[in-house]
Amino acid sequence: MSIQRVCEETIRPYLVSVGETDVNARLSTIETQLIMAGVLLPAVAAELQPEDLKETGLPVPILRQLAKAIREDSLPRGTLDGDQLRPHSFDQVVGHNHFKQLMLRALLATKMQATPMAHILLTGPRGLGKTTLALAIAHEAEKEIKLLNGSQFRSATDASTQVLTWKDGDIIFIDEIHGMHRSAQETLYSVLEDHRLPITEKQRGGRVQTSVPAPRVTIIGATTNPAKMLVPFRNRFTTAYLLSFYTEAEMKQIAMRSCRVLGFRLSEEGLTYLIHHCRDNPRTLNGFLMQLSYQATTERRSDLHAQDVRFLMELNGFDVLGLQPFEHTYLETLERQGGTASLATLASAMDMEASEIEASVEPWLIRQGWVDKTSRGRRLKRTLSFALQQTETTDLEDDEAPTDPCIRPSSVLTSLPQPSH
Ligand code: ADP
Repeated sequence: MSIQRVCEETIRPYLVSVGETDVNARLSTIETQLIMAGVLLPAVAAELQPEDLKETGLPVPILRQLAKAIREDSLPRGTLDGDQLRPHSFDQVVGHNHFKQLMLRALLATKMQATPMAHILLTGPRGLGKTTLALAIAHEAEKEIKLLNGSQFRSATDASTQVLTWKDGDIIFIDEIHGMHRSAQETLYSVLEDHRLPITEKQRGGRVQTSVPAPRVTIIGATTNPAKMLVPFRNRFTTAYLLSFYTEAEMKQIAMRSCRVLGFRLSEEGLTYLIHHCRDNPRTLNGFLMQLSYQATTERRSDLHAQDVRFLMELNGFDVLGLQPFEHTYLETLERQGGTASLATLASAMDMEASEIEASVEPWLIRQGWVDKTSRGRRLKRTLSFALQQTETTDLEDDEAPTDPCIRPSSVLTSLPQPSH
């Protein structure tokens, strides 16, 4: 059980029962006291005893529960791979605070009512934490989670076969749920809503549509493209959550935890430089941190710095504008096409699937003000040559800096620390 859940299920009711006037403020103080007690440090967390938490002023039985929850949630040990960077409880999942609160309330209520939780649809670009959140929900619910992918549901028969392996109370995670065949989605309508599986029975005189009881499960769907789901299917996910990109502070928190798991330290400057190259995406961030950990291991170092990150970014093909090779090609192609091109033209020039460009290349370029989507296709807002000129004139006063007439200048790229050449 996570610290957050102990707070909600045990400490909050306790504070209410003793007539605490501002429960939220008191809970927030307790959280700070826990941090001060070093619960975020794996070595401390793994060994934590109730007396280490007496500063909180809570009674001993609650302190015992709290210390146990913290020990259980302490970071995993053993061989390191990408999956170990994945947080497994709500405490370790950075951000999403409102959603986590909603989920904790839902978990508590459904436990009291002995019913499965309502179905959940998580929407957002790849690598932002949809799978992580689903796994953490199952962890908080103290349930096994079955991991599936939409591509496994190619027909109504696939859907029925799956449903027949599920049990009451299961949590089923379906990644890329928009990839399910429409007949599979239709088969699941009544499973999700009425706990009935439609079947076709042979009877004298022909085939008859009927249904059999289906297990009462919670489905957590994850999608990068909810518009590709059938509307009645999508509507059956009564809890819908849209994941947005992380702030710099949240990315730092994720990076610091990953560094702890990977066993090296990264300087503040190195951290900032790295985060500016991660497209606000934790998966990208963790990928680079894994690469840095290989460097730390092979060079037997526990402290890495900005120059190590800079070198890594060069090895990964980032240019002086902080662009990756495929982003550079995308912008160059648009420039060659006179500033506007269709997605299909860009896809063939880059030898990539249009859907892949939409999911992985464009979101960041759009957010950084390089391009936008118009009815005529993609439109370039700033040329590469102009951006380069801007980086060369960062020393000039604002009113001396060049202006690109059709293009809104971005302050973000010019403020990035640049790799040394
Ligand atoms: P998605 O399912 O949206 O593609 P994942 O859940 O697989 O993304 O997240 C990719 C990686 O990023 C995870 O392995 C995890 O280490 C990290 N990550 C994602 N979201 C968070 C978060 N909120 N806090 C900490 N780490 C995160």
